[in-house]
Amino acid sequence: RTKLRIGMIPADGVGREVLPAARAALEALGSSIPKTEFLDLDAGFEYFTKKGVALPEETVSAMKNDLDCALFGAVSSPSHRVVGYSSPIVALRKAMDLYSNIRPVKSVSKTPGERPSIDMVIVRENTECLYIKEETMSLGPNGKEARATRLITERASRRIGQMAFETALARGSSSLLTIVHKSNVLSVTDGLFRETVRGVPALPGVDGKYDAIKVEEQLVDSMVYRMFREPQVFDVAVAPNMYGDIISDAAAALVGSLGLVPSVNAGDTFVMGEPVHGSAPDIVGRGIANPLAAIRSAALMLVHLGYDGPAKKLDEAVDSVLRRGDVLTPDLGGSCTTDQVTAAVLKEL
Ligand code: NAD
Ligand code: MN
Repeated sequence: RTKLRIGMIPADGVGREVLPAARAALEALGSSIPKTEFLDLDAGFEYFTKKGVALPEETVSAMKNDLDCALFGAVSSPSHRVVGYSSPIVALRKAMDLYSNIRPVKSVSKTPGERPSIDMVIVRENTECLYIKEETMSLGPNGKEARATRLITERASRRIGQMAFETALARGSSSLLTIVHKSNVLSVTDGLFRETVRGVPALPGVDGKYDAIKVEEQLVDSMVYRMFREPQVFDVAVAPNMYGDIISDAAAALVGSLGLVPSVNAGDTFVMGEPVHGSAPDIVGRGIANPLAAIRSAALMLVHLGYDGPAKKLDEAVDSVLRRGDVLTPDLGGSCTTDQVTAAVLKEL
């Protein structure tokens, strides 16, 4: 690559406040990555209220045809039904077949060399489960009856399983993979997920490469319990879409803030970085959103494109700002602004 063409989709709320920080951090990497070209793209609820569409066709076609990767901010999806509106991030994951959402959660140790109290990667299935949004309403003897379809397929479970084993392998041959499910209750759907992921090491072509990875299972409710009690035991966890969503926010609390946790939505041909947090309406417009999750998402995107060295530089800059602890946003107990924290990261770079 001589150029890196990056789509920027700030979307709504604090997404617009943190994405410029990610851009500035990428630009500060200079010639250690190919020349960056940023393309601003529309999506989101605010765009929907103006134009009647949440994910314009041009955004999808630019991602399919003109870009190497993208960064997404956050969307504001209202809790009530809005006719014609559907979350663009869910649609985008589907349109680009970004079937995995990879979410590293790591605390920064104060003393160099000390083992962080949590250092895990959540591998979340990104295309199905309850998030296919097949919901119906009918009238029955008990009044309104609302139903949702929960889809788990063998194909999606297998490929997220493969992604999880590969993620575990990349973290060292003796890593631990925890399969998160609730198949004591949902024996058909979660049963299929669990069995399919368990079957990955026996697939043709694997040839024993996952043999040293220890595989465990955890019911999703006790997973949350154990994450709070003994977060240090977890390494890689793989989960269906909704459980993955929920345990990620729980894990974010363990490192101190949602404003710290990055992710990438990855498929076989495209990668899109995205902070785990939402549009944070409670703090929007005050200039105090934590930009570190967005910057870390840019780093993670670089890892997935094969630029490990520059990604490491970004991560180290973020870590040293956190370790120093004097330039932090209010979510971490500080009193600094988004711009001040971004400037501190750029200075480290
Ligand atoms: P949220 O993640 O937006 O906020 C939860 C809490 O975390 C809030 O107190 C918020 O202030 C804080 N927070 C989040 N990001 C932060 C940051 N960068 N710096 C400092 N503090 C931060 O979740 P919510 O309040 O449940 O949802 C708000 C909106 O976001 C909803 O409309 C929801 O649909 C949407 N949402 C979007 C995504 C996404 O775009 N992928 C994810 C989650 C929620
Ligand atoms: Mn979420």
